[in-house]
Amino acid sequence: MTRIAFIGVGNMGHGMAANQVKAGRDVWAFDLAPAALEHATEAGCRPAASIAEAVREADAVITMLPTGAHVRQAFDQDVLPNARSGALLIDCSTIDVESARAVANQASRAGFRFADAPVSGGVVGADAGTLAFMVGCRDEEFAAVEAVLQPMARAVIHAGAAGAGQAAKICNNMLLGVSMLGTCEAFALAEKLGLSWERFFEIASKSSGQCWSLTTNCPVPGPVPTSPANRGYAAGFATAMMLKDLKLAQAAAAAAGAATPMGAQAEALYALFDGQGYGGKDFSAVIQMLRGRLGELA
Ligand code: NAD
Repeated sequence: MTRIAFIGVGNMGHGMAANQVKAGRDVWAFDLAPAALEHATEAGCRPAASIAEAVREADAVITMLPTGAHVRQAFDQDVLPNARSGALLIDCSTIDVESARAVANQASRAGFRFADAPVSGGVVGADAGTLAFMVGCRDEEFAAVEAVLQPMARAVIHAGAAGAGQAAKICNNMLLGVSMLGTCEAFALAEKLGLSWERFFEIASKSSGQCWSLTTNCPVPGPVPTSPANRGYAAGFATAMMLKDLKLAQAAAAAAGAATPMGAQAEALYALFDGQGYGGKDFSAVIQMLRGRLGELA
């Protein structure tokens, strides 16, 4: 039986680890938060007392931690000194490209195979085992990475070498942030011009303005009954998460010398919205700030 160490069983990691258990794997979980570890144990994981204990006998180690600093520290202090030689190390957290490459180099120097494999699909996808993984690793290592990720995945896509998974993730989410703000502005303008949201949706969804932010995560209630706007903008994809990804994109753009003025605007607008206390709302709720209707957000 494949033995997996799962480090970080919070909102995302819980469902991911549970799907590894359902696939018949022997999953050893560790989390600094006792409640998260207990929840993972209820899903069939074995509770480890430390990262060291979780990784010691593991064939593969999966990390799902908040930020690059957490990942760097966990690898440097606990995973690399204790994992068994030949183990496959996969970081699924969303972190900065620089940290992903630094950890990949460190793992490679210590003789491990490593992949960065951030995800798209949120908590719903984590629970359902339908995440999309964007993988940065050596060509010859991709098949092994795919086999480990498969029970948690709808798609596993090889983006390129180390760091390429994180690069794909932040480029995609910068595009998403910009397209959502554009969609919100269009609905706000349509309203001012006396055009009903339903009629504008009907036209734009069949025209060149069509995009995921319009047709799946529509920021106004009505046209797409399943979108967060119909349930008080409960996330969904939280504004604080979008802001985190936009900050990562801007940091990467600055380091790479890329011009991303729309991404910078998106970061500023989401920072403004988050700063007013709406970090927990779905990122489509930013339309209420653009409409001057923040008071309508519970
Ligand atoms: P979370 O805060 O719910 O879970 C992170 C867990 O890591 C927590 O339980 C925390 O106690 C634990 N942790 C922190 N440091 C640790 C350490 N040193 N050892 C062991 N455990 C430690 O966050 P999440 O929503 O599960 O997100 C995890 C990652 O996935 C983040 O990088 C996030 O950006 C990314 N992500 C989240 C979503 C989402 O919708 N929540 C979607 C895509 C990607």
